[in-house]
Amino acid sequence: MRALVWHGKEDVRVDTVPDPKILNPRDAVVKITSTAICGSDLHLYGGYIPSLKSGDILGHEFMGEVVEVGKEPGRLKVGDRVVIPFTIACGHCYFCDHDLWSLCDNSNPNAEMTAKVMGQSPSGLFGYTHLFGGYAGGQAEYVRVPYADVGPYKVPDGFSDDQVLFLTDIFPTGYMAAENADIEPGDTVAVWGCGPVAQFAIRSAYLLGAERVIAIDRVPERLAMARDGRAITINFDEEDVHDRLMELTGGRGPDSCIDAVGMEAHGGGSVDAIYDRVKFAAFMTTDRAHALRQAIMACRKGGTVSLAGVYGGVVDKIPMGAAFNKSLKFKMGQTHVHRYLPRLMKHIQDGDLDPSFVITHKLPLDQAPEGYRIFREKKDNCIKVVLKP
Ligand code: NAD
Ligand code: ZN
Repeated sequence: MRALVWHGKEDVRVDTVPDPKILNPRDAVVKITSTAICGSDLHLYGGYIPSLKSGDILGHEFMGEVVEVGKEPGRLKVGDRVVIPFTIACGHCYFCDHDLWSLCDNSNPNAEMTAKVMGQSPSGLFGYTHLFGGYAGGQAEYVRVPYADVGPYKVPDGFSDDQVLFLTDIFPTGYMAAENADIEPGDTVAVWGCGPVAQFAIRSAYLLGAERVIAIDRVPERLAMARDGRAITINFDEEDVHDRLMELTGGRGPDSCIDAVGMEAHGGGSVDAIYDRVKFAAFMTTDRAHALRQAIMACRKGGTVSLAGVYGGVVDKIPMGAAFNKSLKFKMGQTHVHRYLPRLMKHIQDGDLDPSFVITHKLPLDQAPEGYRIFREKKDNCIKVVLKP
């Protein structure tokens, strides 16, 4: 089959690779009909997350048709049309039982190695390095889905791929970021970033009762899309973010602050930098990094800082004194996609939100390397790229 393969930093290619096979009784093989490129893929593309190997297949936002099932398929049948959470979960461990699916104890075969870096191991993820299990991703014609009796969610009739694809990651991720922001009626929520995840965080904050959302970025099309979602926007190239937030909130600061930027791209740095204190300090003073610092400094006393943006290593220069003395709460993590899927499908069915609004580019899988480039460079007004195998 054809698949998007990582060969090194900023070097991804579409190669012919062996077809995936059923390895375990609870596996399925899915023929991909749509797959997207995520901001998290840019961390891999830019070489920010260690433990990728040349030859690894990327991609964690995908959907398609079940073409093969193992001996214990559960409710899944050949021919089912499914969306697949990017987090892999066994469905039966302590964490799955507690609705904490991205922390599953059994789905990361490299748990021992990961625990050395993180203390304990989170779940396996598709296409996201050997720290998260080394699973082949879904920017491909076919993918093996482990624990397929637990994750894949059957798409109700009448919905296009474009309408449901983002249930695999960015809609639940934006939603969980908003839920983690502990929104109360009347609240003002500030969102750093206007990328795809942020766009869903903005709309989810309103679904969860925010009075007002303020969104921060520098890319004009992304700011415009945030305004379409009823956000007030701040262009951080043109205005001082902190001052403007204080002005908009009568000097008190937003009730909660969502970081939908993460550590990625722009300001330099590399995986090596994460392990080198001096280089890392330089990396952390670049613009991408200070979204989180700004969020901590601007958040009102007693407020909540919610992180959807991904962090891969050690973050330096976090103003802990401000966080402590303002009694801030922090919530974060990889999204518990399984938890949100039915709820968000219902929002789509009820017409509250059509997630396809975020798509700006559709390319054949063979043009995936170009897709990575334009998404990373934000060329050609690119906000979200969908690949069609
Ligand atoms: P993206 O890279 O397209 O969007 C990031 C946006 O942040 C860009 O529009 C950029 O211009 C903006 N930005 C950069 N520096 C900024 C700053 N200092 N202040 C304000 N805005 C700034 O990526 P995306 O797909 O929207 O993903 C966003 C983040 O969410 C990434 O870190 C990604 O890894 C993460 N993510 C997390 C999960 C999860 O489970 N928690 C899932 C998916 C994605
Ligand atoms: Zn993603």
